[in-house]
Amino acid sequence: MFTSDDSLLIVIPLVVVVLVVIGFVVVKNRPEVDTKPTVEVSTPSRAGLGAAIRRALGSHLDDGTWASLEEALIAADVGVVAAGDIVKRVRGSKPETVDGARAAIAEALRFELEGKDRDLRLEGKPAVMLVVGVNGTGKTTTIAKLAKLLQDDGKKVTLGAADTFRAAAAEQLSTWGDRLGVQVVRGQEGGDPASVAFDTIDSARAKAVDVVIIDTAGRLHGKKNLMAELEKIHRVSGGDDVDEILLVLDATAGQNGLAQVSEFSNAVPLTGIVLTKMDGTARGGIVIAVERTLDVPVKFVGVGEAMEDLRPFDPDSFVEALLA
Ligand code: GDP
Repeated sequence: MFTSDDSLLIVIPLVVVVLVVIGFVVVKNRPEVDTKPTVEVSTPSRAGLGAAIRRALGSHLDDGTWASLEEALIAADVGVVAAGDIVKRVRGSKPETVDGARAAIAEALRFELEGKDRDLRLEGKPAVMLVVGVNGTGKTTTIAKLAKLLQDDGKKVTLGAADTFRAAAAEQLSTWGDRLGVQVVRGQEGGDPASVAFDTIDSARAKAVDVVIIDTAGRLHGKKNLMAELEKIHRVSGGDDVDEILLVLDATAGQNGLAQVSEFSNAVPLTGIVLTKMDGTARGGIVIAVERTLDVPVKFVGVGEAMEDLRPFDPDSFVEALLA
């Protein structure tokens, strides 16, 4: 007779064999595990300003705290001079506890960022806004985001594609324009960018548009020509009557980004900065460095790729979020 003991004798080895085969197949097809760190965000130099400050303060204050804090601020892109000033201010308040030091840092950061007029000036009829910056910083996306903000505020907007050097730039702007239902004035490829700016303002005036936003070229090679081109666009767009000249700066580019943009401020009188990619690996301290270097207020921050991802820059919530 075939007993249940007999069937166990057959089933158990069979199960073992099946499990061994499955195990072999799984191990063989297992995706390779990359042992290298894939993202740099966890290394000190790439961490955000808030995390760097927390690490520097540690659990208690001692002789090394202030040097660590200064290093952390520099690593987070605050800039050497500003970092020294902030630490001096914090030490001057003689904090005795980590909480006290954190409060003193918040105060010092607020002091750095206070007293700036961060509102958009939109007085012209139409108000004219030039947007300048290096290619790849997020200039076109920022223009779309600004247009959306203004539209949400009930303003009629027209965009001018004055980067005639790159056909793709005008295409990209037109795509955003279609999505927003906003007119985009374009010129001939390789044509005179200043005449596109002029035509855009002219057309906007005829259509009782409230705000004109003009995209400009951002190629870094041929820098001299580019700056001459920007000066001409500025002149043709009304010179001193231009309401806003916003510089778009990639917050993840750190000090290198700052070095590039000084050129723009020499060519045209910047009225504000838009820091893009503050959602990414940006160390955040660049806000302070850029305001010190260029003496121009950060007016907006980009916090993502979508049309809604632009926020007016608010120092209080910035500092609060950093030290929360
Ligand atoms: P342009 O060459 O300066 O006009 O740059 P684009 O507007 O084409 O943007 C370059 C890239 O940056 C695109 O992939 C955008 O989606 C992305 N980008 C722009 N602003 C932001 C931002 O605030 N955050 C993030 N994460 N990406 C952004």
